[in-house]
Amino acid sequence: MTCSLSYIGRFAPSPSGPLHFGSLVTAVGSYLQAKSNDGKWLLRIEDIDPPREVVGASDAIFRCLDAHALHWDGQPSYQSQHSERYEARIQQLVEADLAYVCQCTRASLTKLGSGDCPCLKNKMPLVEGAIRFRHNQPIQTFEDRLLRRVTIPPEELTTQFAIRRRDGLFAYQLAVVTDDIEQGITEVARGADLLSATVFQLALYQAFKHTPPSFLHFPLVMNTSGLKLSKQNHAPAIVLSQASNNLTHALRFLGLRVPDNLLGALPEVILEWAVVNWNLDDVVAKTEQIDNRIEGPDRI
Ligand code: GLU
Repeated sequence: MTCSLSYIGRFAPSPSGPLHFGSLVTAVGSYLQAKSNDGKWLLRIEDIDPPREVVGASDAIFRCLDAHALHWDGQPSYQSQHSERYEARIQQLVEADLAYVCQCTRASLTKLGSGDCPCLKNKMPLVEGAIRFRHNQPIQTFEDRLLRRVTIPPEELTTQFAIRRRDGLFAYQLAVVTDDIEQGITEVARGADLLSATVFQLALYQAFKHTPPSFLHFPLVMNTSGLKLSKQNHAPAIVLSQASNNLTHALRFLGLRVPDNLLGALPEVILEWAVVNWNLDDVVAKTEQIDNRIEGPDRI
């Protein structure tokens, strides 16, 4: 179902654990982008990786968003229910000779560096191994709404990326582009940990001959050791009883000057104020936390 609204954004958490402060910042930022543009904010649960899934995580995510008055539009969608559309997109790439079967291990590909994968020339049945995108003209730069021109360093560009993994699961890049197209997403607003994923996703948009959405990557929240907050680093789960406080912190992290008279107000009231006062220029002030991939101080 493709919608024709002028702005459609989304929040797309993986249910691999409860939301932490970094994911709350992304949720708040993408919500404000959508709502300040009179748009829709969709929720997509990215549950295509069962081994990484934590039982109950989706429900915990719903509860957390609700507690912070981050109400999504429509029903949440689940990637686990979209296998047919992913399969169809893989077929489309295979038919265009833009996909091939690869039996290399991660270690052998790393050893290969930027060299050509030996499987590129092979004609193997599509059932045996990973399916990789034939990346004829890798994209290295893109324009970000917040960070302006972003250039991904060559060492972060794997030349041939998977669209179906060796274990048969659909790969993240394929699933996210397929769904963003299907849902008519006009802007992807997410954390800067996905900066390098963007160039692979742009290559898929090109292959599908589909205009890409605009991209906007929020600065990452770091822990005291300078590592980004993540489930892998055991970032603490958001405490729901502190919702107003959490929101205020998230907004301040995003550069908004929350007035003192809003401290402790209901989450709805804080968010209503934030929608009116949301300004990407305030977020720009935070971008120096993101490393030297950014070539200029101004946003586009
Ligand atoms: N599911 C991804 C995550 O939780 C986000 C994907 C995206 O926003 O494109 O990190």
